[in-house]
Amino acid sequence: MKIPYKIYLEESELPKQWYNMRADMKVKPAPILNPGTLEPVTAEELSGIFCEELVKQELDNDTAYFDIPEEIMDFYKMYRPSPLTRAYFLEKALGTPAKIYYKFEGNNTSGSHKLNSAIAQAYYAKKQGLKGVTTETGAGQWGTALSMACSFFGLDCKVYMVKVSYEQKPFRREVMRTYGATVTPSPSDTTEVGRKILAEFPGTTGSLGCAISEAVEAAVSHEGYRYVLGSVLSQVLLHQSVIGLETAAALKKYDIKPDIIIGCAGGGSNLGGLISPFMGEKLRGEADYRIIAVEPASCPSFTRGKFAYDFCDTGKVCPLQKMYTLGSGFIPSANHAGGLRYHGMSGILSQLYHDGYMEAVSVEQTSVFEAAQQFARVEGILPAPESSHAIRVAIDEALKCKETGEEKTIVFGLTGTGYFDMVAYQKYNDGEMSDYIPSDEELNASLSALPKVD
Ligand SMILES: *Cc1c(COP(=O)(O)O)cnc(C)c1O
Repeated sequence: MKIPYKIYLEESELPKQWYNMRADMKVKPAPILNPGTLEPVTAEELSGIFCEELVKQELDNDTAYFDIPEEIMDFYKMYRPSPLTRAYFLEKALGTPAKIYYKFEGNNTSGSHKLNSAIAQAYYAKKQGLKGVTTETGAGQWGTALSMACSFFGLDCKVYMVKVSYEQKPFRREVMRTYGATVTPSPSDTTEVGRKILAEFPGTTGSLGCAISEAVEAAVSHEGYRYVLGSVLSQVLLHQSVIGLETAAALKKYDIKPDIIIGCAGGGSNLGGLISPFMGEKLRGEADYRIIAVEPASCPSFTRGKFAYDFCDTGKVCPLQKMYTLGSGFIPSANHAGGLRYHGMSGILSQLYHDGYMEAVSVEQTSVFEAAQQFARVEGILPAPESSHAIRVAIDEALKCKETGEEKTIVFGLTGTGYFDMVAYQKYNDGEMSDYIPSDEELNASLSALPKVD
């Protein structure tokens, strides 16, 4: 049977529940800790920062399925299902016997998968009667997604945007403002932690960890506001499971069984979402898949980080999580243009990686952009630099198949479009992009500052 270029799902075939991988994990992720007491954080403590329903999801290691509320299902229908595409043109260009599929999440105005969780988080905030939410954004995709979600439910949205992106990506900022969000470059003098970081590191271009601290402070200091986060947290992986559930449903229509599943990993949300149902089968011993996380060589949390408790933010105001981390003080080289700059990693994925359920590789940014260009030219989509990490490894795996003659089925997550990343593409096109791999000394400097917990 000829597999179509795109495999679609009918509305009636869309997943109606999110899947929580933790329910099937024998070793659960370690509890998150209160940054003040270093004791496991309680639901009550967390509900000062996060919405109540999201706190429940965050702390639930046992419920396998959560119904997707109807309002969220309806919103999803505006841009979902996202297409699962057979990369016939890429296969041909590579001359590989491998069969390559990609799940494309860039088909909405925010340009990435982040809208899947943004709409859920905005919905629960609205349901709780809140006035608004605060958040951070790095490259800008999360802030954009959240602005769209907040405007849909009539919530106020305050975004702290990493300063370097604020300056480099004025158009992302304008999309957010078009959806009614307030955008502040971080670090800023609007928060105590921002002022402290500015005093300590004058001229800093900011980091995600630092923007998170500011957004949390803004939430707890404004009545009727809570903080929302676009990655890393278990609740975000839960919402993103819609990506994997759709993928599994589409593959099943044609009896396709993937051998290798690949995703880029920043904080782990798209990868965690994409692999969810497959990892579930693996955890329950029903099937086996090779699952590969791809990260930048300049921010290598899985491949060179430590599995330890660490702060999720530079300002140390968020709960601590046990995860693969480079240290909350780690700031990737300014030369790094390819996204995925976060120092840590989802606690769920960290535990799964630690227990041998998945692999991780790191790739250098020039090779990532080379893969992006090759993909753009044959498949017609200009990919986000983040997504292109997954493309790189999908191509590498397909080329291995070419050598061995194996007809493996490869599925990768194409998380978004790169239209707002043209400064990075320009660097690459001008031959001005270089690779940067942090030295052991550099990593040790931030790793030696890990909090002593165990
Ligand atoms: C945010 C983002 C990522 C990385 O975040 P994860 O939480 O690791 O998924 C990857 N791709 C795109 C397009 C993004 O916007």
